[in-house]
Amino acid sequence: MPPCRLAAEWVLPMSSPPIARGAVLIGAEGRIAAVGPDHLVPRPPDAVEQNYDGGLLLPGLINTHTHLELTGLAGGPPGPDFTGWILGVRQAKAGRSAEAFEQAARQGVEDGWAAGVTTVADTGDSGAVISALAEMGGSGIVYHEVFGPHPGQVEESMAGLRSAVTRLGRYATGRVRIGLSPHAPYTVSGELYAATAEYAAVEGLPMAVHLAESQAESELLGQGSGSFAEAWGRRGIPLPSGPGRTPVEWLDAHGVLGERTLCIHVVRASPGDLDLLAGRGAAVAHCPLSNRAHGHGDAPLAGMLQRGLRVGVGTDSVLSVGRLDLLAEARAARVLGGLDAGGALALCTTGAAAAIGMAGEIGSLEPGRWGDCVVLQPRAAGLGPEERALACAPHDVVATYLGGRAVYRSSAAS
Ligand SMILES: [Zn+2]
Repeated sequence: MPPCRLAAEWVLPMSSPPIARGAVLIGAEGRIAAVGPDHLVPRPPDAVEQNYDGGLLLPGLINTHTHLELTGLAGGPPGPDFTGWILGVRQAKAGRSAEAFEQAARQGVEDGWAAGVTTVADTGDSGAVISALAEMGGSGIVYHEVFGPHPGQVEESMAGLRSAVTRLGRYATGRVRIGLSPHAPYTVSGELYAATAEYAAVEGLPMAVHLAESQAESELLGQGSGSFAEAWGRRGIPLPSGPGRTPVEWLDAHGVLGERTLCIHVVRASPGDLDLLAGRGAAVAHCPLSNRAHGHGDAPLAGMLQRGLRVGVGTDSVLSVGRLDLLAEARAARVLGGLDAGGALALCTTGAAAAIGMAGEIGSLEPGRWGDCVVLQPRAAGLGPEERALACAPHDVVATYLGGRAVYRSSAAS
């Protein structure tokens, strides 16, 4: 692939101030070779050049939480019954064939590119997303889900997880990684959490967990009551050990929280919980619009950022939020966190890269980073470039580059 040189009205490296009339040169190997004012960035004779007049060029966006295997499933706004909704998702998945999962995963990756998302942190159990990313030349971490609320299921669940990691590990090359996702405290026993955490440590794999999302989850672990506890009772599943703990405390007691653990949602977290997460060096995938759609409430984003927690925004799945729009998540996070436009954009660029352990690779436009970029054609005028970028929607994306390769171009850009 020849080098690629992109110029725009503004280049927003995110790790340094916006550059008026800027350019980025991406080398033949797909990494950024130079970034700066247009007249200072080299023009190799063999480079493919593209000028985006009026465009804003940013690092490719990073979605820190999604379920792309669910792409295409009809949803509508979720109702207040979270326990029932979870059951509905499992039933919808059970009705999908392997081919349908593969098609959905590919469509999900393509939809992401069209919305400026170049890297995903995805959770699922079909295996379709990791193969789609590998075959399409995408970028991401795919956390393979494991379930098992009954302590008696640990061996069977772990055997299934190990065999899935062996089977899917062949796709984890180049820019695609594999991780583990013991799903959530209401679907995974403490024993299975401990076994998965040990396996992750031995294999050096990252983990992602849905944590402290709903009131029902807090009730299950805190008082052994609520709708999850009732559902467990009906299935003969013993209640979690040691009632009186918050979800964060309960997970920590099973050795799950660490620097390679991405905690998804973290809505119902006390100041003490946030201190614990910060002390363990865990990261957070913040999904404000999903949290709101389910009626879970708002996560304590400002408290997370004050403690130096690594945080990125995520969309969650189409079944929670309908259309996936990462900049809309960043705008919601801005209000919650009391952030400026740059701080909000960081949640889907530099901060998101740090949250998923890829800070040295993606999330900013710097020499040596992957040549992942999104070009936005903003409609808002009269504001600074960061404000204009943040105000954009997926249909304002004119081009997306992954390692210097154009993976999306809107008809307006051609
Ligand atoms: Zn999720």
